[in-house]
Amino acid sequence: MFTKARFGLIPALVVSLMVPIPIISTAAASDEVVVYSARKEHLIKPLFDAFTAETGIDVRYVTDKAGPLLARLQAEGANTRADMLMTVDAGNLWQAAEQGVLAPVESEVLEANVPEHLQDPANRWFGLSVRARTIVYNTERVDPAELSTYRALADPKWRGRLCLRTSKKVYNQSLVAMMMARLGEEKTEEVVEGWVANLATQPFSNDTKTMEAVAAGQCDVAIVNTYYFGRLQKKDPDINLALFWPNQEGSGVHVNISGAGITRHAENPEAALKLLEWLSTPAAQERFAGLNMEYPVNPAVAPDPLVASWGDFKADTINVARAGELQAEAVMLMDRAGYR
Ligand code: FE
Repeated sequence: MFTKARFGLIPALVVSLMVPIPIISTAAASDEVVVYSARKEHLIKPLFDAFTAETGIDVRYVTDKAGPLLARLQAEGANTRADMLMTVDAGNLWQAAEQGVLAPVESEVLEANVPEHLQDPANRWFGLSVRARTIVYNTERVDPAELSTYRALADPKWRGRLCLRTSKKVYNQSLVAMMMARLGEEKTEEVVEGWVANLATQPFSNDTKTMEAVAAGQCDVAIVNTYYFGRLQKKDPDINLALFWPNQEGSGVHVNISGAGITRHAENPEAALKLLEWLSTPAAQERFAGLNMEYPVNPAVAPDPLVASWGDFKADTINVARAGELQAEAVMLMDRAGYR
């Protein structure tokens, strides 16, 4: 099931270039899993602690952004101490798989707990939580009856009323990639051009700033991940923003995942698989999703009450791997359309 290729000596040059991480200073024991995580510490530590308490398997982890972690995994090659890569966005997971740092796994538990469209068709990564990238609107300036689809935000009636986050963010690359999968390249390019024409101001660096601009009336609508909306709503329950679920008559809301895979050169693939499977089980799912106000990937688990209060919606069931497959084309398309 797992290939374990180990090659002689660690190349001295590679080692000297790597940033030393004290917590991984000794050879991994068999009752230990080492995780490279782009998911933040406060969202994973409670889960890892619970896993250790239940199984006796220790979990050590390093957190960083997805790009540096992936570069590090590649540089370390067969000498990596990482057994698992955990990151957000199917675009990033797809990249990791494409670069050969993840190993396929056969697991009845994962197949039962993770819907088919939220896992790699070749089983190198599995979704662990779902985030919807949807429309948010200013409740004082927009009647939700005016809203319908992502595509309709390109309509001239939204001129000067739309705010977007930068196209550099993988979330938007994945959104546009999935639109390409649904609408085709030509129509998607028209949509993105329309969005750009409708922008009230330059794209923002993150979803929270984008929503703050909508709340302040700088624009009326935007496209954001649901958990960022949840964070604002927790701080200010009366905030003048609401979510809208687009594409309900058609393909559904664009959803993405956070997820994980087992590294190709894992020292403890069995323990890592145990952790991955455990994270997909109902008890773990409730906390894994709930801590970040995301949706559980396991359909048997209900979302957190605040998340549930946003209402049910039909989600797009196209395999999220398409976001990775079409990522490079989506980036070029956004560039041509003038989306910065
Ligand atoms: Fe995020």
